[in-house]
Amino acid sequence: MDRRDFLKVVGAASVASFTLGDFIKASRAKASVAGATSEKWEKYIVGQKTPSICPYCGVGCGLMVTTLDGELVEVEGDPIHPINRGALCSKGQALYQIRNVDGKINSQRLSKVLYRAPSDDGWQEKTWDWAIAEIAKRIKETRDANWVERDEDDYVVNRTEAIASVGSVFLNSEECYALSKALRSLGLVYMENEARLCSSPAVAALGETLGRGPMTNHWIDLGNSDCIMVIGANPAETFPNGFRWILQAKEKGAKCINVDPRFTRTSALADIYAMLRTGTDIAFIGGMINYVIQNNLYHEEYVREYTDASFLINPNYKFNEGLFSGYDAAKRIYDKSTWQYQLDETGIPKMDKSLQDPNCVFQLLKKHFSRYDMDTVCKITGTPKDVYLEVCRTYTATGQKGKAGAIVFSSGADQHSQATQIVRSYAILQLLLGNIGVAGGGLNGIAGAVNGIGCTLNGRLFHQLPGSLPMPMAQDENLARYLDRVTSPKSKMERTVSPWTSRPKHVISLLKAWYGDAATKANEFGWGYLPKIGANYSWIPLFEAMDAGVIKGLICWGMNPAVSGPNSEATRKALEKLDWMVVVDLWETETAAVWKRPNVDPRKSKMEVFLLPAASSLEKEGSVTNSARWMQWRYRIVNPPGQAKDDLWILSKLMLKLKELYGTEGGPNAEAITKLTWDYGDPPNIHKLAKEINGYDLTTGKLLPSFGNLKDDGTTSSGNWIFCGSYTDEGNQAARRDISRDPFEIGLYPKWAWCWPLNRRIMYNRASVNLSGEPWDMERPVIRWDATAKSWVGDVPDGGPPPGAIYPFVMKSEGRAHLFGMGIADGPLPEHYEPWESPVRNPLSPIQYDPVLKVWETNGKDIQERYPILATTFRFLEHMHTGSVTRNLPWLVELMPEMFVEISEELAEEKGITSGAKVIVESNRGEIRAVAAVTKRLRPLNVNGQIVHQIGLPWHWGYMGISKGDSANLLSPRVVDANTGIPEFKVFLCDIRKV
Ligand code: SF4
Repeated sequence: MDRRDFLKVVGAASVASFTLGDFIKASRAKASVAGATSEKWEKYIVGQKTPSICPYCGVGCGLMVTTLDGELVEVEGDPIHPINRGALCSKGQALYQIRNVDGKINSQRLSKVLYRAPSDDGWQEKTWDWAIAEIAKRIKETRDANWVERDEDDYVVNRTEAIASVGSVFLNSEECYALSKALRSLGLVYMENEARLCSSPAVAALGETLGRGPMTNHWIDLGNSDCIMVIGANPAETFPNGFRWILQAKEKGAKCINVDPRFTRTSALADIYAMLRTGTDIAFIGGMINYVIQNNLYHEEYVREYTDASFLINPNYKFNEGLFSGYDAAKRIYDKSTWQYQLDETGIPKMDKSLQDPNCVFQLLKKHFSRYDMDTVCKITGTPKDVYLEVCRTYTATGQKGKAGAIVFSSGADQHSQATQIVRSYAILQLLLGNIGVAGGGLNGIAGAVNGIGCTLNGRLFHQLPGSLPMPMAQDENLARYLDRVTSPKSKMERTVSPWTSRPKHVISLLKAWYGDAATKANEFGWGYLPKIGANYSWIPLFEAMDAGVIKGLICWGMNPAVSGPNSEATRKALEKLDWMVVVDLWETETAAVWKRPNVDPRKSKMEVFLLPAASSLEKEGSVTNSARWMQWRYRIVNPPGQAKDDLWILSKLMLKLKELYGTEGGPNAEAITKLTWDYGDPPNIHKLAKEINGYDLTTGKLLPSFGNLKDDGTTSSGNWIFCGSYTDEGNQAARRDISRDPFEIGLYPKWAWCWPLNRRIMYNRASVNLSGEPWDMERPVIRWDATAKSWVGDVPDGGPPPGAIYPFVMKSEGRAHLFGMGIADGPLPEHYEPWESPVRNPLSPIQYDPVLKVWETNGKDIQERYPILATTFRFLEHMHTGSVTRNLPWLVELMPEMFVEISEELAEEKGITSGAKVIVESNRGEIRAVAAVTKRLRPLNVNGQIVHQIGLPWHWGYMGISKGDSANLLSPRVVDANTGIPEFKVFLCDIRKV
C-alpha cells in the first residue's frame, strides 16, 4: 500500500473500522493495477509474520509484522488479537514509517551517537565506547561531588539530588525495571515519568477509594455494559480500538453518554452529548450523586455491605462555607484528625447499618451533595438543564441489580489541578450504583501510553520502588522501622485481610533480587544501599531544582519534557542550566535540541548533550502492560538502524562501566553499585530480567508461580511482586496467544497474555456477587461460587475464601470501599472549586479555588479582564503526545500538518477571525501562533448568567520534526493537584487575536 492508499483509507477511518480483510482488499487492488507495488506485495505474501504490540496507546493492539530477509515489509493488525481483531487506527497503520520511508530507513531516525560540546553550535559524531565512558565519568563526578550521606536531621539518606532521570512509558517494562534498579543504586531520587503528567490522580483517587489505581475492568468488557459514560476522554480518537467495544455495547442496546467541553468524534457517536465548562466535572458528577440519593436509585445492599456508608465519622467533622474542618490557612493544608472513623474500645470502626445516624458516611455524603441541586449544577457547568436531566436519568438506571454502567475517563479528567477529587467523584457515583466489580461496569481510567502501567509499577516515579512499594524515607532509620510503617494500617475487623502485612515478603524479595548474596539478614538485606527520600521530588519540584542549579545532570530516556511540561518556556530555561544531559531516543527531540531552539543563541548554552540512538519497539524485545493490565510480549523483529541500540543494551553498558569505575576508584556508598546484581550477559538477555522480576525460590532455583510463595527470610527473590507469576516454569505467560474463552463468555480471554494481579481480568470481582456468592447479574456473572466443588468459577476471584468469608475490597483494611476519603489532601468528599484561572466567581461557596492547591505562578488582579477566554488542551487521532514520533512520519504529518486552535463560530465572529487565518493565542505565560479552525464543536456557555467562550488547543507540536509548530504548553500554568503533583493542563485563561 502506498501513501495515497494509506491517506485514502485512514483519513476516513477515525474509528478503527479498518480490518485485515479491508487491508488485503486495498493492497490487492493496488497490486493489480500498478506494477510498482507488486514487488512489495510478493514480499508480503512470502514474508515471515511475527506478532507484536502497537507502541502507542494504552489499548495495546496486536500487530502482525511481515519481514523478508531481515527487512521490514509491512505492519498490519493482528487478526486474532482479542482486542483489535485485525484493526489498526491511523497511528498503528503508519508504524511502518517509524523505520522506513519509501523503502529506506526514515531519515529522521537517529542512527549515530551524537555529542554537543559546551557552547558549540552543532553535533559531533562519536563512538559508543567514547560516549559510555564519558557519561559514566559525568555521573560519577556529579554523584560523588554532591553526595548526601546524612540530611540536616542527621538521618542517613545516601542519596544525590544533583542528577535527575525522566522517562519513559514507551520503554518495555523490563527496561523500566532495570532503569529503576540501576539509578536507585546510584542514589538518585529525582525520578519521574509521564504518568505524573497523565494519570497519577486516577491512581491516588482509586487507591484511596477501592484499594488499587488502574482501570478496574478491561477493553472488551466495555461491550458488556448497559450504559457507558465517557467523561474526560475522547476514545473514538485517542483509543479507537478500545472505543470499538463501546460501539459493540451500543449495537446490543446500550446507551453511550459523552460529557466534554468539545463536541468530539466520541460525542458524534454517543446517544447523549452534554457540554460542560472545562474544569467543572465535580459539580457535574456531584449533581448526579445528589440525584441518585434523593431518588433512592442507589444499590442499597451493595452500598450498605460493600462500602463504608454505615461507618460513623468523628462528630467534630464539619463542612462549612466551602471548607472542611481542620483547615490551616497559614500553611494551606488540612489537619485530617476529624475526618476519621469513630472507633470502639477495641479499635474497630463503629457502624450504623440502618444508614440513619447523622454522623454515618452515608448521611454526611447525602448532606454534602444536597447542595448540588440541578439548577446550581447547570449554573456552574453551563450544561443545558434538559440534557443534564437526561444524563442523570439514563446513567443512574444502572443502579438496578442486573444492570451495569461503566465510566470511561482519561487525561480530560486527570490533567486537572483538582483531578484526584474529580476521579473520586466518579468512584463515589459508581459505588452508589453498585457498578464496581461487575461485568460491564467499573472505573476505566485509560492510561494514555502503551506501557504507562508497566513503567510506573516498575518504580519510575520518585515515591515508589517496583511493585508500588513506598520509597524509604529519611526517618525510616532501619529496615524494621520502614516495614512497620509500610505494613500499616492493620485490620482489626472481622472478615477482612490486612493487605499490607505481606509487604516484608515483597520488600525483602526485592532486595534479594537486587543484591543477591550480598543481601543478608546481618546487613538488613542491603537496606543501607537504598537512597532515602526527604522531600517532594515530583515533576514541578524537579524542574524548579534544575532551574535553581541543584540538579546538574539529567538522564532523559524516551521522554520530551521541553514540550510535555506546563509553562514550557520555564522548563526549557531550566534545561539550559544543566551541566550535562543524556537523551536516549529515536529522534532529535525538542529536549535534545533545547540549546538551539528558535530565538536562542546556541553558543550561549554551556550544557553538554549526549544524544544516544535507541531502538524502536520492533527492534527490541520485552513486555508492555496496557491500560487494562494485560502484560503482552513483543519480539525483536528487525535490527535497529546504524549504531542504534536497544535501551537495555545502552543501560547495561553504562552500568557495567560504572561498576568498573566504583570497583577501582571507590566512592560514597560504592557497594550499592558494586554489589548490585547485573548478570544479564553482554549483550544483555531480556528474559533473564523478566525472570528476575518474576522471582525465584532461592533454595531450589525454580521460578515462583505466584506472589503467594514469597517469603521474608531471604529464601525468595522477586524484583516486582506484582508481576510474580508472569514468567514461571511453565514459560513466559505474557507471550501467550491462546484465544480460549472464559466459562461465562464475557470476553475475559484468560489465556491470552497475562494480567496483573494474578491474571485477574476484572478487579474487585467479589463485589459482583452478594455475600452468599450469588451474582447480582445472572446474565453476565464474573465469578460464581460452586457449592459442590467448593470453589469459584469464572475469573480469578479477588480473594479466594468462600462467599461471605471476606468483604470484597481486599486492599482496604476494612474490606469495604471508601466513600469517605480520609487520606485525600483537599477533603474527604469532593467539592467544586473554580480552577486557578477562571472567568467566574465560584457560585457554590466563598472559596474560589482549591484551598490546598500548589501554585508556582502569580496572577495579576486583572487576569480575567486581560484573558477572558477559557482554554483547554486535547489530543487527536493522528499524533501522539508531544509528537516526537508522529511528527516525524510523513503519512501522519500529511493527515495533520500543523498546529491549530479550535474556536467557536460565535467567538470567531466577535474577534473577526475566519477559518484558516493565522492567530495568536496569549496567556499569562506567553503566546503562540496557530491556524484558526472555526467550528461548531465548541459553543459559548451560559455560566451563571455570564457568557463564557472556550477554545481548544492540541498539544502535539514543538520546534523539531518534519512538522513544526508552537507548543500549547507554552501557555499552561504551573499549578498542581495537592495529592499527586499533576499540573493543570486543561483549564487556563487566554485571549486570541488575528496575526
Ligand atoms: Fe491500537 Fe492505540 Fe495503536 Fe491505535 S494507537 S492501533 S488504538 S494501540
